[in-house]
Amino acid sequence: MSDIPTATLGRVVTYVRVLEELEAQNVQQASSGDLARRAGVTPFQVRKDLTYFGRFGTRGIGYTVAVLRRELLRKLGLDQTWNVVIVGMGRLGHAIANYPGASDYQFRNVGLFDVAPDVVGREVRGLTIQHIGQLGPFVASVAGTPRQVDLGLLTVPAEHAQAAAQALAAAGVGGILNFAPAVLQTQDLLVSTPTGEREVTVENVDFLAGMKRLAFYMLGPQTGPTEEST
Ligand code: NAD
Repeated sequence: MSDIPTATLGRVVTYVRVLEELEAQNVQQASSGDLARRAGVTPFQVRKDLTYFGRFGTRGIGYTVAVLRRELLRKLGLDQTWNVVIVGMGRLGHAIANYPGASDYQFRNVGLFDVAPDVVGREVRGLTIQHIGQLGPFVASVAGTPRQVDLGLLTVPAEHAQAAAQALAAAGVGGILNFAPAVLQTQDLLVSTPTGEREVTVENVDFLAGMKRLAFYMLGPQTGPTEEST
């Protein structure tokens, strides 16, 4: 499953949301056309994307909504709880920590970290912001229990992103969602696993990059986005 194109993964996450909407409307069966219309893609694209995850649906009948949703959630790892820490509790860190929607997908904030003396010690939705120096002991304290820290959200200024990412890796956090406009040097971000060391997996999020692309597309119809081949 590791060779799934990023664009496919993005669309499949959208199909899961569409399936959830259909389930909420008590729709039990859906064709690839139904999913495609709601996801804004072609039926062929839906069928092609789903082949990466298994064989689903019956010709002429379509997909059983609950079954397809459950299977996709399982294969995406969204049927299990992912414990998250946020490093950098400024404006963005606070906004994310205060957003309740992530828990719909089993992402659970378990720890909040910062360096600023006026930020450390504050409470956000029942969690006390700790000093970044406490990250290692905190992660160690939860590892091996039913809780462990799986993911780190990085919301520090760009100039501190690499050091903060290194603190996450050193503490044993294997996945980082990086909001800072900085390219993390992943060769320096090694995390120990039972089978040896591996590089931390980094996913970058940048809404300003999206705005820049949009500005370019707005220059004229000839510059509009085109569908990727993957
Ligand atoms: P902010 O200045 O309000 O907050 C940053 C926080 O990080 C501060 O509380 C600071 O004390 C803390 N910090 C600094 N160094 C740290 C370290 N080593 N460990 C732990 N905490 C540390 O900034 P903001 O507006 O919340 O933005 C945060 C980051 O997110 C910036 O890099 C910004 O450019 C980026 N950002 C990205 C997007 C996006 O779409 N990806 C959108 C907005 C902001």
